[in-house]
Amino acid sequence: MNYLSTRGAGAGERHTFSDILLGGLAKDGGLYLPAEYPRVTADELTRWRALPYADLAFEILSKFSDDIPAEDLRALTRKTYTAATYCHVRDGESAAQITPLKTLGVESGAPLSLLELSNGPTLAFKDMAMQLIGNLFEYALARHGETLNILGATSGDTGSAAEYAMRGKQGIRVFMLSPHKKMSAFQTAQMYSLQDPNIFNLAVEGVFDDCQDIVKAVSNDHAFKAKYKIGTVNSINWARVVAQVVYYFKGYFAATKSNDERVSFTVPSGNFGNVCAGHIARMMGLPIEKLVVATNENDVLDEFFRTGIYRVRKAAETYHTSSPSMDISKASNFERFVFDLLGRDPARVLQLFRDVEEKGGFDLAASGDFARVKEFGFVSGRSSHETRLDTIRDVFERYGTMIDTHTADGLKVAREHLQPGIPMIVLETAQPIKFGETIHEALLREPGRPAAFAGLESLPQRFEVLPANAQRVKDFIVAHTGE
Ligand SMILES: *Cc1c(COP(=O)(O)O)cnc(C)c1O
Repeated sequence: MNYLSTRGAGAGERHTFSDILLGGLAKDGGLYLPAEYPRVTADELTRWRALPYADLAFEILSKFSDDIPAEDLRALTRKTYTAATYCHVRDGESAAQITPLKTLGVESGAPLSLLELSNGPTLAFKDMAMQLIGNLFEYALARHGETLNILGATSGDTGSAAEYAMRGKQGIRVFMLSPHKKMSAFQTAQMYSLQDPNIFNLAVEGVFDDCQDIVKAVSNDHAFKAKYKIGTVNSINWARVVAQVVYYFKGYFAATKSNDERVSFTVPSGNFGNVCAGHIARMMGLPIEKLVVATNENDVLDEFFRTGIYRVRKAAETYHTSSPSMDISKASNFERFVFDLLGRDPARVLQLFRDVEEKGGFDLAASGDFARVKEFGFVSGRSSHETRLDTIRDVFERYGTMIDTHTADGLKVAREHLQPGIPMIVLETAQPIKFGETIHEALLREPGRPAAFAGLESLPQRFEVLPANAQRVKDFIVAHTGE
């Protein structure tokens, strides 16, 4: 499998999965994609239906990473997708399923269900990919006798998923910046209670944007970046996207009896990483009818799928909502889909994303390309604080199931796209306990807490408070890498 950049630089060069595993953007600022999508045969689909999650993950990943010896990859997926890691199931569900499918009922003739992606260590779907990345990184670094210092900024979910994936890993340190005293007590405790010596929580006196600016400033110091082997695990990482393809297959098998059936998925979306994996599953031949993109008030993506206009927002136009993990001003993985939509024409992708930088967006409404969005199965919708609360209440009253704020956005939009006889699977991206305040606002009660999280907020915390200053962060890294 060879990988290329969506913007075309270095065409003809060879990039294997391992080559791009530890990197971020391609040299030209584009994103990596496989030179072509592997197709799944009818026989494979039939055989895969019976596989446990870890072995399904092996089958799918091996199509994208043929430079990793099969036995090594199988060992990595089996080490990653265990019932012990994805153990925080509710309502007597089976942790061995890794991503259990919870049936809600039939609405407008469509069987409606939730695919639970949030039973891992941090109770959010980012664990699905990040746990694998932790093991893949450790494996790749050991193979080459290298080390890596991961630098990141988080307002909650991504940082904790990265820390739980990298804790105790050989050759890896994590320096995670978070805004001091700005995260919920639960999220703060989740991150800061980690005592592993390779995890460093840096509480920055500022807001999330300050943290992000520091990461950019440090990464732009190329000499420092090279000397201290600074890397990232943000959502454009290709291995993260491809790891997410697996649960679309798993969800399809759980919701159907034969491979003649089609299903639709609704995906609560921010950076377009999760639904991009759905697009790839569909390109591989999984029988997906619709991919429904659900946004919150930050509706950059909904606007595009309704109008053909992609208009990124300024920081001041980005709302802080009650589904905060979807609060984005631009969708960092969107370029991958645009590349396919434009028939894989890198020159046009380069021009459009130059327009994004220079003019704040682009307009495909008048071009024939936008009409092709339908061929790719995409539709969309948006939610608001009011509809979010209504959906949480409605699902609790009707089905006795408590859902989190992001999943509520998904369900609200899914209901606008139901088709009789076609199962609709809504991806559940977090557990309600992570967003307890809004759940309380909707239901006047506290969400249940998985037993392992009892007393989390009173555990001792380990973090360092630093001013919002890139030099101070660099000094900290130098002092704690011993290189
Ligand atoms: C990250 C996240 C999302 C958005 O996923 P993308 O891949 O960025 O589209 C949705 N819900 C939750 C809970 C998340 O943590």
